[in-house]
Amino acid sequence: MLKWLVLFLLVPLVAALPLPDFWIIQLNYIGLYALTCLGLVLLTGVSGLTSFGQAAFVGIGAYSTAWLTLNLGLSPWLALAVGLTLTGIAALLVGLLTLRMSGHYLPLATISWGLALYYLMGNLEALGKYDGLLGLKSLSIGNFDLGQGRAFFVLTWLILLAAALAVTDLLDSRAGRAIRSLKTATQMAEAMGINTFRYKVTVFVLAAWLACISGWLMAHFQRTVNPSAFGLKMGIEYLFMTVVGGVGYVWGAVVGAGLVKLLDDQLQTLLPQLMGTSGSYEVIVFGIVLVLILKYLPNGLWSLVAAYLPPRQRVVDWAEAAPLPERHKPQAGELVLDVQDIRKQFGGLTAVNDIRFQIQAGQIVGLIGPNGAGKSTTFNLITGVLCLTSGRVQFRGETISGLRAREIARRGMARTFQHVKMVADMTVLENVAMGAYSRSHRGVLAGMLRTNRQEEKQLFKEAQRQLERIGMGSQMHELAGNLAMGPQRMMEIARALCADPALLLLDEPAAGLRHQEKQALATVLRQLQNEGVSLLLVEHDMDLVMTVCDHLVVMEFGTLLTQGTPAEIQQNPAVRAAYLGTEH
Ligand code: ADP
Ligand code: MG
Repeated sequence: MLKWLVLFLLVPLVAALPLPDFWIIQLNYIGLYALTCLGLVLLTGVSGLTSFGQAAFVGIGAYSTAWLTLNLGLSPWLALAVGLTLTGIAALLVGLLTLRMSGHYLPLATISWGLALYYLMGNLEALGKYDGLLGLKSLSIGNFDLGQGRAFFVLTWLILLAAALAVTDLLDSRAGRAIRSLKTATQMAEAMGINTFRYKVTVFVLAAWLACISGWLMAHFQRTVNPSAFGLKMGIEYLFMTVVGGVGYVWGAVVGAGLVKLLDDQLQTLLPQLMGTSGSYEVIVFGIVLVLILKYLPNGLWSLVAAYLPPRQRVVDWAEAAPLPERHKPQAGELVLDVQDIRKQFGGLTAVNDIRFQIQAGQIVGLIGPNGAGKSTTFNLITGVLCLTSGRVQFRGETISGLRAREIARRGMARTFQHVKMVADMTVLENVAMGAYSRSHRGVLAGMLRTNRQEEKQLFKEAQRQLERIGMGSQMHELAGNLAMGPQRMMEIARALCADPALLLLDEPAAGLRHQEKQALATVLRQLQNEGVSLLLVEHDMDLVMTVCDHLVVMEFGTLLTQGTPAEIQQNPAVRAAYLGTEH
């Protein structure tokens, strides 16, 4: 917090320095650009959603205040509120339409959106066509002119810093961890009960709002608006600034905006002199710089600085926090899971053929069978990742077939993945805390305003408790991506336990574990059983399965071969044949 206080105090200090006006104007532009770039950090850097269309949102902010103040005589501050509303609606519509697109379609869609709005602004009579609107008032409070020079510098940079602080706080919150999973781990997030599409739309709207505020400021600073500042070229330039500065870092936005603005001015005077003719040669230089940066410094300039900053230490101050609410648990012997003749066809292949079994509360059921038998598919049918061709799954008396993975997760079914899924650049503690997402509720605004502190402590306390339970307490502050395979798998179990599940599903938890790690896993599983957790275990390791499971379900070629106690299964000639591959 001290760091931020210093930064906020620096702004009026810089304004008081005897800098030439030219530099203050430069800094004003840098602040305006950085505000839009900050949105791109959130959208592209953190969430992996590339947009070339941010300039269009800057345009909505600028044009709405220009039109409203000039034609209706509205106060600029009221016009900002209208502008934010319009931007929110536009971003919501564009987001809902385009954010389900994957791969390169989203950037392409933002290009067409940027182009469309540019031509709309340029062709509307009411907006002055390509000449734009002239003669805007400068911003003021009472008689105090805020709209030019040093006062505007203070206003813009305080807004920028406040936005940077809000984004930083947001990313370090329950909602922020969900946002940080959007780039690489949406399937995991959904399995924790997170509606990832909703977060994508939210991030899109937030980024658009930052652009809108920048446009509003810019319009009153320049006192004129015209479409060229909001076209596709500017959209590309915003993205360029952010990538050069470091698209994954809040400060990357400021560094990128600063560098590109200064370089742009220098090149615009220098290059025509060198070439002997006038022309936008700086675009060529920018293209070359971008290619070089992407090749040699893919995380941007700020990554050089970030490498020297000490890693952030999380202060452990949650010992006193109240425990999170617990789920109502099934009584021993109660039917928890009822799988009724479920079937899955992939084209002509019946991967799961009328499988049926039950899990009672406190039972550990093993699902075994040779490779390709259909175990993972069964697992995905139960957890809602795949939809059933036919059959029905009941969980605690409720039919859950047809529900989405996150809806099933919220009902108290937690899972791990055959191939570990996590947010590699979050700490172990943060990853595990995501498991308790559905037991908490603080959202984006609470994250930004830090009114979520109490709940954050509860989440981390629970995450630490689960990590200690599986013997990983000492590793909680490490980055998850730095863990070895074994600990990563154990981390997934801790994350699933954070959900306080009534039923826990583990897909090959022992795969890739060393002997000692397997023994530790078996200990944890038995401990869970003693605590009354119900478990479905897909596992290849027969020693482990035979020692921990109460009941085994054997699959072969998608069909149910047999089920029974481990002792019965071991004696079963058909099972032996299936495993040894001999005819029986
Ligand atoms: P297991 O986990 O028991 O090794 P799986 O459930 O992964 O087996 O696979 C069962 C069968 O279904 C295999 O023949 C596999 O090739 C097939 N299969 C799995 N997923 C798909 C899919 N998405 N599309 C087509 N076939 C699939
Ligand atoms: Mg499998």
